[in-house]
Amino acid sequence: MAVHYKRILLKLSGESLGGERQIGINADILSQFAKEVYRAQKSGVQIGIVIGGGNIFRGLSENAARMDRVSADHMGMLATVINSIALGDALRSAGVPVKVMTTVQMDAFAEYFTKRKAVAYLNQGNVVVFGAGTGNPYFTTDTAAVLKAVEIDADIILKGTRVNGVYNADPEKVPSATMYKELTYMEVVKNGLKVMDSTAITLAMDNDLPILVFNFNITGNLLQIVNGENIGTIVRGE
Ligand code: UDP
Repeated sequence: MAVHYKRILLKLSGESLGGERQIGINADILSQFAKEVYRAQKSGVQIGIVIGGGNIFRGLSENAARMDRVSADHMGMLATVINSIALGDALRSAGVPVKVMTTVQMDAFAEYFTKRKAVAYLNQGNVVVFGAGTGNPYFTTDTAAVLKAVEIDADIILKGTRVNGVYNADPEKVPSATMYKELTYMEVVKNGLKVMDSTAITLAMDNDLPILVFNFNITGNLLQIVNGENIGTIVRGE
């Protein structure tokens, strides 16, 4: 089957790497994620990945309350580098050619990001994992994911979560919550729907970049999506 997208940007939360407890790094989950990416990449789509850092540290968490925000955010960005190195390693073990790049220079750990090099690596058949967020405090990795997707000319952002899409209430707390199949960027912003923060959504809107929210814990979902299956919730323009 021909792949539906040429290039995608997969966004994963750091918390997802921690498993049930949502903290630390769970080796089984790393391998499971790597297998999903391996299968999708084999089908011919180019894949960039941004992973968050919430399983290790967040700039707005309770533990950061007495810290200077910029210092706390620097720690959060370093947490994303830890996760990116872990994911890069798991992908390599699963047989996926991979490059880890960071937006902050730390050459001994990962390559410094430039658009040109990242796109060349993708064209050569590598998965590229982007660490260190935007490189700036006061942003999130959702915004970093949109920014990287726009920079590398991705067709779509696939936001992997542990639920099936975007709901009108938290489906893990409200059993009667219903899932949207389609939303516009403005509906997400106006209704405060939990897709991505408003900076990320508006950046996607300004660049006409669709966002698909889907359940990454279901085996085979990523492959089905890159093959054009109608899974999850799509957010796009009117
Ligand atoms: N962060 C930042 N700038 C960025 C991206 C991330 O300062 O461009 C910091 C911020 O403190 C954030 C933390 O890194 O709380 C971890 O990222 P995020 O909370 O987005 O991770 P996720 O929720 O996806 O695990």
